[in-house]
Amino acid sequence: MDPCFGACDADENLLNTLNADLLIHLGHLPISENKNILFIPFKYPFEEKKIKKLCKIMEKELIKRKINSIALGTTAQYIEWVPLIKKELEGKVKIFTAKGTGRIKEDAQLLGCNYSSLKIPSTHAEAIIYLGDGFFHPLGAVHAQEKPVFVLNPKEESIKLLEKEKNLFLRKRFIAIAKAKEAESFGIIISRKPGQKFLNKAIELKKKIELHGKKAFLLSVDYVNETYFIGTKIDCLVNTACPRIVIDDAENWKINIINSNELLIALGEIKWEDYAMDELA
Ligand code: SF4
Repeated sequence: MDPCFGACDADENLLNTLNADLLIHLGHLPISENKNILFIPFKYPFEEKKIKKLCKIMEKELIKRKINSIALGTTAQYIEWVPLIKKELEGKVKIFTAKGTGRIKEDAQLLGCNYSSLKIPSTHAEAIIYLGDGFFHPLGAVHAQEKPVFVLNPKEESIKLLEKEKNLFLRKRFIAIAKAKEAESFGIIISRKPGQKFLNKAIELKKKIELHGKKAFLLSVDYVNETYFIGTKIDCLVNTACPRIVIDDAENWKINIINSNELLIALGEIKWEDYAMDELA
């Protein structure tokens, strides 16, 4: 009954604790190679005609904007609709998909911590179509190719060009980085979840912070939760776990929290113009 945030969070210890033979993880494509975990992805059921109707609207939008080639990316829950969308749009525009690297398992698959499917040169296009809902994944897609991103949302039956959300997001992250520049003490969060644990990266960041004459502490936690850090008297937290913790939720944290790429900007090691989402291998 513990919360579970993705395939990165399959509780491998539970098998030993409960002396069980198999852990069944519902909702995501696999990340772990553990043979004792069975991953069963959840797939959204939509009517085919609704997807086709959305493709027609998308086609008109692309023609209006004189866009001749697009890259397509989506999450596990929508991936079975990729062949139909390709079929509907092929011939009208060039449509590219690819299977990325690391924890990516399927053609066109994206994760909030891995956009490699859109970084492969063969997918470089004039625009990106993100098939799915919400703004977290499409915000990451923006930084994969620096091209316009359309959200084709079968749940809301809508098509939206991501502009306002992208600008607002970048403004908020700019402020968080500016605050981090002023910080004297940093807490580096190390997750204990199997697919979110990056101890060496955390140690490397600690050294970098200390080289700048500031204090840094390693903070190990399983469930990264804002309330656990209240009272630590730390100026800024650096997240090495799921990047979504910062991207989706930073505004609800009392302590300033940034991702590791954002720390590198705050320390002057990379430029703001090169802002990128943190990616996990
Ligand atoms: S680390 Fe975050 S974005 Fe990546 S798979 Fe896990 S929950 Fe999803």
